[in-house]
Amino acid sequence: MKTAVVTGGASGIGLGIAQRLRGDGFHVAVLDLNPDEDDDLAYRADVTRPDEIAAALNAVRAKLGPVTVLVNAAGLEGFKRFQSIAFADWQRVLDVNLNGTFHCIQAVLPDMLDAGWGRIVNISSSSAHSGQPFMSHYVAAKSAINGLTKALALELGPSGITVNAVPPGFIDTPMLRKSEQARLLGGSVEDHIKRTPVRRIGTPQDIAATCAFLISEEAGYITGQIIGVNGGRNT
Ligand code: NAD
Repeated sequence: MKTAVVTGGASGIGLGIAQRLRGDGFHVAVLDLNPDEDDDLAYRADVTRPDEIAAALNAVRAKLGPVTVLVNAAGLEGFKRFQSIAFADWQRVLDVNLNGTFHCIQAVLPDMLDAGWGRIVNISSSSAHSGQPFMSHYVAAKSAINGLTKALALELGPSGITVNAVPPGFIDTPMLRKSEQARLLGGSVEDHIKRTPVRRIGTPQDIAATCAFLISEEAGYITGQIIGVNGGRNT
């Protein structure tokens, strides 16, 4: 049985991915700032802290063996006019989204290189494709994740490791509902559904299904790709 780590797996998209991969027969450990206390495979780790990631991964390896699947779903959004973004805000959003992805890949990679097989899926954002006002730090971080994905795919392909990104668009999660409540979405969820070609909001399960495919053996010829899951909002 393969062991997967899902960061941000305590909520929303990451939770949906962890549940799906468990259903598909993976051992799945979750690394999250706020892990579910009832889940004995959920570990508290801040992805901006290499020491916390290393401690959590040591515990995961001791229990479940080497980690050959990594899904980076931990994320933090931000909404501010560009002129109001303090450098500390900018740094925090880049730190969680981009540097967190860097730290987790670096920490897990030795297991994949030893195994001669690995799957990395980075959850970026459709806003990296479309742009998004008042989210310049977030869009910059998510765009960088797409770039990192492409570069790493070339570097790690010869070692049997694929690296892909899934940029979600408009997925029903606590993050999105919080933005709606704070009137930061530019309209209600219902308004957005009317503008979405498939006329519904996305679900964590939509993202999980795409991740499950990219992680599967039969997706071994797919690497360096940015696979949008957004109901046709970005093409
Ligand atoms: P969410 O807020 O429901 O879940 C995010 C999870 O990440 C939480 O469990 C949180 O505790 C964890 N997390 C945050 N900072 C962390 C840190 N420093 N270390 C460890 N864990 C941390 O959000 P979601 O909507 O499920 O988002 C998941 C991913 O999808 C994020 O990367 C987000 O940017 C991306 N995304 C979501 C949407 C959407 O429509 N919901 C759209 C585009 C991109």
